[in-house]
Amino acid sequence: MNFNKIVDLDHSYVMQTYARLPVSFVKGKGTRLWDDEGREYLDFVAGLGVVNVGHCHPRVVKAIHEQASRLIHVSNLYFMENQVILAKTLSALAFGGRAFFGNSGAEANEGAIKLTRKYAKSADSGRHEIITAYRSFHGRTMKTLAATGQPEKQRPFEPLPPGFVHVPLNNLTALEAAISDKTSAILLEPIQGEGGVHQCDFDYLRAVRRICDERDILLILDEVQTGIGRTGRFFAYQHYGIEPDILTMAKGLASGMPIGAVVAKERVASSFTAGDHGSTFGGGPVVTAAAIATLNVIQDEGLVENAAKVGDYFKSGLEALAERKGFKEVRGRGLMLAIELGEARAKAGDIVRSLLVKRRIIVNAIGETTLRFLPPLAVTESEVDEVLAALESEV
Ligand SMILES: *Cc1c(COP(=O)(O)O)cnc(C)c1O
Repeated sequence: MNFNKIVDLDHSYVMQTYARLPVSFVKGKGTRLWDDEGREYLDFVAGLGVVNVGHCHPRVVKAIHEQASRLIHVSNLYFMENQVILAKTLSALAFGGRAFFGNSGAEANEGAIKLTRKYAKSADSGRHEIITAYRSFHGRTMKTLAATGQPEKQRPFEPLPPGFVHVPLNNLTALEAAISDKTSAILLEPIQGEGGVHQCDFDYLRAVRRICDERDILLILDEVQTGIGRTGRFFAYQHYGIEPDILTMAKGLASGMPIGAVVAKERVASSFTAGDHGSTFGGGPVVTAAAIATLNVIQDEGLVENAAKVGDYFKSGLEALAERKGFKEVRGRGLMLAIELGEARAKAGDIVRSLLVKRRIIVNAIGETTLRFLPPLAVTESEVDEVLAALESEV
């Protein structure tokens, strides 16, 4: 089907919830994508932080193919080998926790919210409020939208489910003022993704952990975007020398197969009992095979270390560029980076289009003034140089 026909049919038959860019990709390998006319692109978005091991990694493709040819689906009424292997691997990576599998980031956060509620009920504490940050993003279901601290995203869908209180990030006084005897959890992204790549300060997140311990409040970290090596540690919380009580992940976990996971400390996880939560597709044989292969590739190819190393190189390059061009600032860590262009510049969306069409380089815009970069974790310094050179001339 030619490109214009695809666009026509999209406009006629698909709900228009996405502002799509004018391209249709048909093939991917590593950091590269190809469109329907065979043109090659360098991908610094990676499906929005999803294909951390690169597009169509042969070991992931093989794992999916082999599992799909044997058995694609069985219900969670039965035991599954891939699911327990994945749970054990995640437990070793994340504080000996216990896992529940769903199908997306929003579902992982829904699971975390439900688990928090059940934990409070089990303790008969009467607590039910969750504090989250402004500019956060936790998903598109009604409950995770209520958690998301972005009033402009929420307004069209009000009234939203109650029980969420929002505070400015990195402001401990505001957080302490928001805590009450109803507070059951504090939910944060270590680095806010969709909100513009804003990091939790080191001292702030450590202080939040201490407050949670003192007041018996659960700390939930949403690592749907920051997890799976993205920031140069396997999970971003590891930069802070703390552990959450509940951790959610999704995007990079299975290289593009739909998966989400909640991992919780035993004392919290054990408040879920049979029938409390479930998912028809969650943790099925094929997605978990893809996740196991993904984690093995990350380990064997040293991709977390590469994300840290190339991330530092990229960030220095962006900072030098920002200095020369007078951009406002560079934010982020590892391979989750952003440039804040400032007000007087070309709009971020226009830059994304010109890089795509003229340079065949894929980057992402957040709002009108922020460019975001989330390349596959195997990206090289020379690929970073390509992007820096393109930014130098196009921005
Ligand atoms: C993308 C994202 C989500 C939502 O994930 P979906 O898979 O789109 O539901 C939640 N939290 C964070 C931090 C995200 O980046």
